[in-house]
Amino acid sequence: MEEEEVVVEEEEAENEEEEEVQSFKELGIVDQLIEACDSLGWKLPTKIQADAIPLALQGKDLIGVAQTGSGKTGAFALPIIQSLLDAPQAFFALVLSPTRELAIQIAEQFEALGSSIGVKSAVLVGGVDQLQQSIQLGKRPHIVVATPGRLVDHLSNTKGFSLRTIKYLVLDEADRLLNVDFEKSLDEILNAIPRERRTYLFSATMTKKVKKLQRACLRNPVKIEADSKYSTVITLNQKYRFVPAKHKDCYLVYILNEKSETTSMVFTRTCEATRHLSLMLRNLNFRAIPISGQMTQAKRLGALNKFKAGECNILICTDVASRGLDIPSVELVINYDIPTNSKDYFHRVGRTARAGRTGVAISLINQYELEWYLQIEKLIGYKLPEYPAQEEEVLFFLERVTEAKRLTAMKIKEGGGHKRRRGGEDDEEVEKFHGKNNKRSSNNKSKRR
Ligand code: AMP
Repeated sequence: MEEEEVVVEEEEAENEEEEEVQSFKELGIVDQLIEACDSLGWKLPTKIQADAIPLALQGKDLIGVAQTGSGKTGAFALPIIQSLLDAPQAFFALVLSPTRELAIQIAEQFEALGSSIGVKSAVLVGGVDQLQQSIQLGKRPHIVVATPGRLVDHLSNTKGFSLRTIKYLVLDEADRLLNVDFEKSLDEILNAIPRERRTYLFSATMTKKVKKLQRACLRNPVKIEADSKYSTVITLNQKYRFVPAKHKDCYLVYILNEKSETTSMVFTRTCEATRHLSLMLRNLNFRAIPISGQMTQAKRLGALNKFKAGECNILICTDVASRGLDIPSVELVINYDIPTNSKDYFHRVGRTARAGRTGVAISLINQYELEWYLQIEKLIGYKLPEYPAQEEEVLFFLERVTEAKRLTAMKIKEGGGHKRRRGGEDDEEVEKFHGKNNKRSSNNKSKRR
């Protein structure tokens, strides 16, 4: 595909320190949408919204970099819906997301903002029935929110489905979408949509993948950097703790016990670890539930919904849950494993302290992870404080943790080890968790000690 030359930073948006807070009206948002914002409790625009909306309404292409949880979805959804109001049509905007859960969340936000004006959206993500999605497409939605692979499937297989009328393309978590693993699908999608359109790229971390941006054919985009590339919000309290590898589980249990009943996300590197840890924690009476790419989509969503509804308060997850998910109740993020890609750290910890709330992030670092952590610390730009814990207090849990791990290993062995069918054991565990926990009395702190 031939593209025009792109100059990414030729027109930086102004970023004065002490800008006056503007209202949605002053940004040019129409009354109908201001009412919709109001009903969501959005009284004033966030920084990224204040920076992006006027430029978007002027018809510019945008590259938006802002901290996680800073209102990026609204920054692109509001101008798109406003433009849809001016010229209503089906298949008006396409929003791409790297993860299924984020795609669903984005569609929910479009529908919430556009409910009074009947904005219809369709979500096309993998792992769920393709036929149902084709039926949704048959209803001619205004907004299509998709993960790239499934969208490509529909473009090839769903009769009559075309994106030739699309006026807006949004790449949310754009740096992830511009990665090599999405390259082929993205190429196909770009070939299937008109060149004449507005394009918005949003993310909390953005690398200068100019060549790829050229492919995405932005036209003299305005780059809005609401915050520095790797900053975290000031309401986020970040800590680290060096721990010996053999006692990491004990530290995890200690922290979760200290933060009893806190809504927490625990990030691990592998799908297996999500399963091990959640089984172990449940053996210790914690209300933990796993989510990973090894589970079926229905179970992934089931786990997420149970976590959102507060039925369980600890979500054990891989990086499948690190991007974009907005669960306001999350107060604590624990990096049980340090991410090997430093950027993931910023996305993970961004699951808490969202939209002005406070939150805590604790990274457990063993002797093998030091280098990755130092890399992260370099990007943060300063040394984090240590999470205070007396080792003897932590090791108080050792016996019970060892026993819980033994039971977990036994259970996994009985269930056929790791070589389970996709979505098998994990899913059953998710279901069993509820039966088991409902029967149990409350999870108080003293009981776990
Ligand atoms: P996002 O970064 O788009 O995932 O948004 C993070 C959270 O901020 C979501 O819960 C939004 O509902 C909320 N939010 C977005 N814009 C505003 C606003 N202008 N005022 C208050 N909350 C907002």
